[in-house]
Amino acid sequence: MSDVMPEAPPVVIIGGGVVGAACAHYLAEAGRRVTILERDRFGAACSHGNCGLLSPSHVLPPAGPGVFAEAMRNLFQKDAPLRVAPRWDPRLWRWLLAFAARCNESAAVEAGRGLGPLLASSRSLYDDLGGTLDCEFEPRGLLIAFREAAAHAGYAKTDALLAERFDLPARRLEGAALREFEPALKPEVAGGWFYEEDAHLRPDALMKSWRAALTDRGVTIREGVSVTGFRVEDGRVRGVQYTSDKGAGEEPASAAVVAAGALTPDFQQALGLYVPVAPGKGYSMTLHLDEHGLDPAAAPRMPLLLPEVRVAVTPHAGGPVRGEDGVRRPAALRLGSIMEFAGYDPSIARRRLALLTRGASRFLNVPAEPPADDHPTGDNRWAGWRPMTPDGVPLIGKVPGGRGQRAENLFVAAGHNMLGLSLAPGTGRLIAELVTGAEPHVDPAPYAPGRFSRG
Ligand SMILES: Cc1cc2nc3c(=O)[nH]c(=O)nc-3n(C[C@H](O)[C@H](O)[C@H](O)COP(=O)(O)OP(=O)(O)OC[C@H]3O[C@@H](n4cnc5c(N)ncnc54)[C@H](O)[C@@H]3O)c2cc1C
Repeated sequence: MSDVMPEAPPVVIIGGGVVGAACAHYLAEAGRRVTILERDRFGAACSHGNCGLLSPSHVLPPAGPGVFAEAMRNLFQKDAPLRVAPRWDPRLWRWLLAFAARCNESAAVEAGRGLGPLLASSRSLYDDLGGTLDCEFEPRGLLIAFREAAAHAGYAKTDALLAERFDLPARRLEGAALREFEPALKPEVAGGWFYEEDAHLRPDALMKSWRAALTDRGVTIREGVSVTGFRVEDGRVRGVQYTSDKGAGEEPASAAVVAAGALTPDFQQALGLYVPVAPGKGYSMTLHLDEHGLDPAAAPRMPLLLPEVRVAVTPHAGGPVRGEDGVRRPAALRLGSIMEFAGYDPSIARRRLALLTRGASRFLNVPAEPPADDHPTGDNRWAGWRPMTPDGVPLIGKVPGGRGQRAENLFVAAGHNMLGLSLAPGTGRLIAELVTGAEPHVDPAPYAPGRFSRG
């Protein structure tokens, strides 16, 4: 039975990324009218060119033992895959100190306990979404590969932790078994660990298909509408204020959900909440095998993670879908990663892309430098800002009020770090439950948006 209230104003979602799309999906499924307000284009920000990995195995957050020290060592190293640009940015340094405080095993395990249920719920929801949305969803697992035998053996400690604390054991592979498993790996690659439950998809195709499905369901998507604040009366958001090329305006709202990704700190004042989200810039480069003269045998059958060079490799049946033609392009490989804290800088430096090709070429027969020409779609070089929180756990839930106006119907769903795609369906379902007052399917406590404002 649906509880559609045709006369009620819509739930307004701010941000048309994968998290906003998922919130809209499950709210519409719960019978709510929904409007998405997007300042640019739906699906064009961080949810566009990411690596497309759906990784329930990734319960451990980026803040791990030794990570902060590595970032500090790389302060003046322009070519390090994990890097903080040396610049005076008090907001970033406050964030980095909070991150540094969590770079230890017990904080990582605590974060993992928060992330685990939402990752698992999202992964199982993708089994349904992957069947209905045209996004090249492939439940083939993820192989973490190591060139050095010592690094491969060293991962056994992480495997034991994941197996004992999170019931996420990997399958250990080496020698002939590894080569049979993934023939594209070079002979000098020492070994791998395989996570069977992981999957992958094409993020741009997902967003394109999700947009069509949401529109079919009656969700309104407005682009070029930049939200600036909320009109709150009697303890409730009544309207969402924005500017567009037509000037200032207001969208009536029965509830509002801020899903603005790395730009969520822009809402700090309007939410009355400290939003510790920093832009963790990452890059991707898509190699179209035939156009770049690559042997199809160079393409791995399954997604790879290469921790020694901090590169992820995702095989795609087709290149990016651009425009309205929906034409499947030739088989492609997406290389992605790099973590750069350099503010909101959208530039795509060729030397950073070279880290991806050079890193991957140590494991696979791909070019060691990025191809000289841009792909005709103009979509093969990409950078995005991951919405990073110090503890690696997103902010999902009702805004507690605090310094701002208390509003019973104001929610946030942001800060999904390196896992926004992997966490989106569970996040959307949880937001729909919180907005409609239904029983949450996972405990929302670990994601409390006010947890950084306490004490
Ligand atoms: C190189 C790279 C590889 C990655 N690989 C993976 C992966 O394999 N698997 C995985 O799970 N995750 C991956 N991620 C992370 C993932 O891409 C992000 O966590 C996810 O896209 C965040 O989604 P989002 O909806 O929160 O943000 P976004 O996609 O950035 O969407 C937020 C939207 O809000 C809009 N907005 C902002 N401010 C306003 C405003 N004032 N008014 C209106 N609209 C506004 C923005 O324009 C934007 O469209 C990767 C990221 C990078 C950079």
